Amino acid sequence: MSKRVLVTGAGGFIGGHLVRLLKGRGYWVRGVDRKHPEFSSSAADEFLLADLRTPEACENVLTLQDGATFEHVYHLAADMGGMGFLQAAECEIMRNSALINVNMPHFAAERGVKRYFLSSSVCVYRDMMHGEPELKEENAYPALPDNEYGWEKLYAERVAQAYGRRSGMEIRIARFQNCYGQENTWKGGREKAPAALCRKVAEAPDGGSIQIWGDGSAVRAYIHVHDLVEAVYRLMHSELQGPVNIGTPEYVSVNELFEKVLAASGKRLQKEHIDGPVGVQSRNFSHERIYSLGWKPRISLSEGIEMTYRWVEQQVRAENA
Ligand code: NAD
Repeated sequence: MSKRVLVTGAGGFIGGHLVRLLKGRGYWVRGVDRKHPEFSSSAADEFLLADLRTPEACENVLTLQDGATFEHVYHLAADMGGMGFLQAAECEIMRNSALINVNMPHFAAERGVKRYFLSSSVCVYRDMMHGEPELKEENAYPALPDNEYGWEKLYAERVAQAYGRRSGMEIRIARFQNCYGQENTWKGGREKAPAALCRKVAEAPDGGSIQIWGDGSAVRAYIHVHDLVEAVYRLMHSELQGPVNIGTPEYVSVNELFEKVLAASGKRLQKEHIDGPVGVQSRNFSHERIYSLGWKPRISLSEGIEMTYRWVEQQVRAENA
């Protein structure tokens, strides 16, 4: 029989892609989320709706009817969004995600899960100046995350590691950089910069203009979701303990990201800079740990944005039809 794995957040963006990858690698997958996937039906063998903030729900989703144990748990469920959401919903993020991240490792350890993956974020790191040397995983301490989402992720990392130490459950932790791609949230307030720019550009008439939060100088790297889920899989099947940064070394400013979206659209547009939440000024992380597994990102930002723009453009067209 195929090995059985659980994916939480399977109704979301990265979780949905991860379920597809795991199915392709021969696993039996139970997906869990509080909502069904928005854009395509789940590839999971079984999909459960559950609100993982409660202990009962966590215990229930970790229980298999024949009394067996999940080989692996990929825990991605979290209250999540772009900069606007992270600022506006800091209490919801601190409460909801902390409840999930306390209950999941507790019941996973109790059920005897062998290996447990936690999706953390590079938001655990401090703000950086342009040109600073790259940060390694241990440089998250002394801790000074820029937002409450980052503080909650640091706490979640520590909870998972504590349960790992006590129970022998093996813990794998990835700190994701900004992830984008087809089926990412593209409207509604939780969308991140790549999807938001794709939507604004797709909606704008050729020759018009779009609004950009801040002066557009903030620097980030963006990883395509296909590269990201492959890295998660490799990490989960490795012996790498402790947090591992997953991202690309292709850093761009928001203004440069806009140019890439524009190139994908073939439109000519102006940009208007307005006040808005912009987050940290700069990012620069070491990827040595994940590279040590033989993984490297394969999709350039231009290729990834091209695919993502086409997908967002289709959504915009379908909505206006
Ligand atoms: P997403 O919002 O698309 O997916 C998260 C899923 O968790 C959603 O489907 C949501 O319904 C589910 N969820 C939230 N609260 C729940 C609850 N109480 N019970 C059950 N399900 C619940 O976000 P994503 O981009 O796919 O992110 C997946 C993970 O990766 C998250 O842990 C996120 O913090 C982390 N991460 C993402 C990025 C990124 O750029 N997308 C960057 C860093 C870290």
